[in-house]
Amino acid sequence: MGDRHQVITTMIVDLRSDTVTKPTPAMLEAMMNAKVGDDVFGEDETINALETKLAAMFNMEAGLFCPSGTMTNQIAIKCFTQPLDELIADQTAHVYRYEGGGIAFNSGVSTRLLYGDRGILTAEMIEPEINAENIHFPHTSLVVLENTVNKGGGSCYTLSQIAPIAQLCKERGLKLHLDGARIFNALVHTGDKAADYGQYFDGISVCLSKGLGAPVGSVLLASKETIKYARRIRKVMGGGMRQAGFLAAAGIYALDHHVERLKIDHAHAALLGAELAKLPWISNVIPADTNILLFDTVEPAEPVLKKLAEKGIKANATDKHRIRFVLHLDVHPEQVEYAVSSLKSLV
Ligand SMILES: *Cc1c(COP(=O)(O)O)cnc(C)c1O
Repeated sequence: MGDRHQVITTMIVDLRSDTVTKPTPAMLEAMMNAKVGDDVFGEDETINALETKLAAMFNMEAGLFCPSGTMTNQIAIKCFTQPLDELIADQTAHVYRYEGGGIAFNSGVSTRLLYGDRGILTAEMIEPEINAENIHFPHTSLVVLENTVNKGGGSCYTLSQIAPIAQLCKERGLKLHLDGARIFNALVHTGDKAADYGQYFDGISVCLSKGLGAPVGSVLLASKETIKYARRIRKVMGGGMRQAGFLAAAGIYALDHHVERLKIDHAHAALLGAELAKLPWISNVIPADTNILLFDTVEPAEPVLKKLAEKGIKANATDKHRIRFVLHLDVHPEQVEYAVSSLKSLV
């Protein structure tokens, strides 16, 4: 076994998720220097600064720092519904599929699932699904959109697609929540402005621990009144975190330094997609708009993933014949190059 073989086999390319990133040295330094206090008393100035900063960016009144995106979404659903209500979401929605049944458990709410185009809904799809006032029917009170759509392969709404949905919600008295776990990927891709989002949504969840590269944390954005209630819900869920400003500092750092670079991840995903489309063992590639690439394998995905793992490329299947690659700030150009050559040699 020569040196060259050893060098190649030690390269690890982790494409399982954009949650696997580790803080950069500069981010760690920002964390170590954070001024902190007890956030349950409202005294952590770094958390307060993060909440204010993000709220201002999205033109929302207030923010609430939480340990996870799941918690921000579940708090929002609790704030915008009553038990016996129903919410409308796409069938791929993270709030429905990947939050452990929390909609029913936390809020006592049922879910009406729609079939969007790669998770993208329209006002025309939503309108007929709003229940009429009738004691037989759950009361429709909330629409949840996701941008980008995780299971859609990072598909995006533009604000021009969101505006008619927001208009419908307003006319029908529904709240509108955005699961913006990857909202910055959408903004970088569409060119829409964060500041234009606030007018359309009652709540926005933003994850700092996805492509932005912070180790922990999400922020819920909403009106002052909603956030006041959301703070109570966060407490009852066990999410009041004391001197968590060390974590909020990573979020502030990420907002200042890791937003523009998301386009590198998008370019990497597009490049991998173009290369994969040429390979005989792949039957279909869904063109990547942002940092998530979905493709279908001729053989079942599991043995393919095994072969990839032998080459140091880590990925997950999302279906029997479907593999997902997620690009992020810990995947560097030379790793993308290595992944391309490894994929080509995988027969
Ligand atoms: C990751 C993610 C979340 C939040 O997940 P946590 O792991 O709880 O932070 C929410 N929505 C979408 C679309 C996601 O991809």
